[in-house]
Amino acid sequence: MNAKKRLWNQIQPAANTGPDQFTKVRIFHSFSLFSVGCSIEKTMVCSRLCLSLSQKVLLVLWYFLGQKRAEDLNNQVFLFFAIIGILDVVAELASNYYISFPDSNCEIAAMLATTIFYLLQALLPFTVICYIQTLHDNKIISAKKMFLSGVPTFILMGMILTNPFTEKLFYFDIPAGYMKGPWYMLMYYSALCHMAAALILIVIWRKKLGYRKVKVLLEILLISGAGVVIQLLYHPLLTTGFGMSLGILALFITINNPHANIDTLTGLYNHLYLVRKSNELISAEKSFHIITVYLYQLRHINKIAGVQGGNSILKLTARKLGEMCGKKAFRTTGKRFMILTGSLEEYEYYLTQLKRMFDGNSKLNVNNKIITVPVIISGIMNAQKLGDSGLILEYAEYLEALSAKSGLTEVIQDDHQTMNGFLYNKRVEQYLHKAITEDLFEIYYQPVYSTRKKCFITLEALSRLQHPELGWIAPDVFIQIAEKNHMIEQITDLQFSRVCRFLGENRYLMEHLLNVKVNLSSLDLMRNDCSRHFIRIMDAYKIPHNWIQFEITETVATEYNAGLRRVAEEFTAAGIGFCLDDFGSGYANLNTVMRLPFSVIKVDRSLLFDICRDEKRAIFYESVVETFHKMNYHIVSEGVETQEEMEQISSWGVDMIQGYYFSKPLPEKELLELLKKQDNIER
Ligand code: C2E
Ligand code: CA
Ligand code: CA
Repeated sequence: MNAKKRLWNQIQPAANTGPDQFTKVRIFHSFSLFSVGCSIEKTMVCSRLCLSLSQKVLLVLWYFLGQKRAEDLNNQVFLFFAIIGILDVVAELASNYYISFPDSNCEIAAMLATTIFYLLQALLPFTVICYIQTLHDNKIISAKKMFLSGVPTFILMGMILTNPFTEKLFYFDIPAGYMKGPWYMLMYYSALCHMAAALILIVIWRKKLGYRKVKVLLEILLISGAGVVIQLLYHPLLTTGFGMSLGILALFITINNPHANIDTLTGLYNHLYLVRKSNELISAEKSFHIITVYLYQLRHINKIAGVQGGNSILKLTARKLGEMCGKKAFRTTGKRFMILTGSLEEYEYYLTQLKRMFDGNSKLNVNNKIITVPVIISGIMNAQKLGDSGLILEYAEYLEALSAKSGLTEVIQDDHQTMNGFLYNKRVEQYLHKAITEDLFEIYYQPVYSTRKKCFITLEALSRLQHPELGWIAPDVFIQIAEKNHMIEQITDLQFSRVCRFLGENRYLMEHLLNVKVNLSSLDLMRNDCSRHFIRIMDAYKIPHNWIQFEITETVATEYNAGLRRVAEEFTAAGIGFCLDDFGSGYANLNTVMRLPFSVIKVDRSLLFDICRDEKRAIFYESVVETFHKMNYHIVSEGVETQEEMEQISSWGVDMIQGYYFSKPLPEKELLELLKKQDNIER
């Protein structure tokens, strides 16, 4: 007798015997096909529960589909999960109905519903695995690879499909009804293995997934696992479907909340989604291109048009971008919009349109006020080459930083050289970690010449770093990268200890030198116990406090004035000196700078430019020296390279000169030799 016939024979007598007889029919049902051994009333109650669950998931689906939602792999898998979930509940309902209320006309439908139900049950655990694979932040598994991880599931599904003929998994018999086949447990093993694999994935990727996602996933595994176990123990309770529906709901309100990917002000996709989308394209080895529109004067616009005006400009820009490129537009940070496209033609088209839109001095009408909105438009072709969404965003910032920010709209197109410059910086950044751990930095000392004493009277400690392949890295470059990545404090500590050790080992030097100047960055000054920290290091090497003078650039002195005062007072009380560095290179607020206890001012090399030929520049330099002298500051002229420059500034009464004319920065050994040569230094 074929399987179809046997199923029908099993159903038919049960229907004729009525509910009491029916309850005696023993059914060993797998996951959630609830027992035919329960009463019709119970069946009705459970069916209603089942229906109400499917309604809830349907509601979630309806809402999810109705919103502007992310269309990345994760959301697509979630959608698939929700659809499979609904179909599963419906199939469970149908399968249960046909078994509870058998009808000879529905023989094929009963067979179909049961098989579909098992197919969906087999598919669900695999969907959970796929779902987890789409959550890894920078190792999103491509759909192709994901498909491969489904091979065991597909084999099982093949077995379920052929089961009516093979009867290996289950079959129907008289009078026992539903019976286990010899490979029946395979369905359990498959579900258990998938759950275990899901758990292992969550544990291995816990850091990349982040606490929040791990928590949600574990909760879902726990709820659905408990649902399966409860239903196994007591068939009439439809807890498998219940657990799964709860899981889908939990995902909907946490990870797959459509609002999580939308920028609330503009309604465009946000940074989070751009990261996921670009990582996904990189994993799938697809090429894509990015255009950034950076409203670099937004802060200024907020000042003149108010925050509301600023917001209106952002909304207007978002609307224009949305109209132009629809779902390809993102707002990634407060001032930055991005367009992501997979087509080169589209990229060129958008770029041309944007140039036209923000042409020259683009003006927008905001609440009847005409406001100038200059932007920086930067284009990155084949952004996938950077290999990571984080790098793409950093590269966009790097490109923007290259612009002159002249107050007009500027367009910066990436090219080979710019990309190489950026990648060079990234290599430096990576090497800095190693250099800090292994203390690979060196210190060179540049002697500073006294115009009055006619000898070197102080030194500036300058960091040096050599890369095995890139060679010497310019300090400006690695210091800036270290500052950006919060590594500067560790570098300062290493270097400061080194300076103290050097001075401790060559104490005689300080009989002829006033002090050694050490550069401090803003982050060094912002650390909690700044003054106590550096004093502790000096004390550890038994270095008198007046041997050190800290240099702070005018930008740092201006921007951190309030916090700096307290630290500066603590340093001054301990006898440590302060020097204002790079005067004239930025926009120092002299009023606030003068409130800090500087005794020395270093005039930046940029002010020296052309002083021997340009009278105006010469007058300016001379008056700077004169003014600071009147205020009792000592002046150091930085970057003096020629005799002509040296003679000119000496005639203006500059106290000290630091420059290649007298000496370049030197390693310890050469410095000691140079100083020894000076008549006034003896051991
Ligand atoms: P800075 O503090 O203004 O240091 C003086 C810079 O001018 C040094 O560049 C020095 O080599 C250079 N210089 C001196 N005389 C001349 C000259 O006659 N001509 C020219 N063209 N340049 C001259 P360096 O060593 O490349 O350092 C660059 C900057 O990197 C420094 O500028 C300082 O801001 C920063 N830096 C270096 N080492 C450290 C450090 O250990 N900590 C911190 N926070 N910054 C450092
Ligand atoms: Ca300096
Ligand atoms: Ca300087």
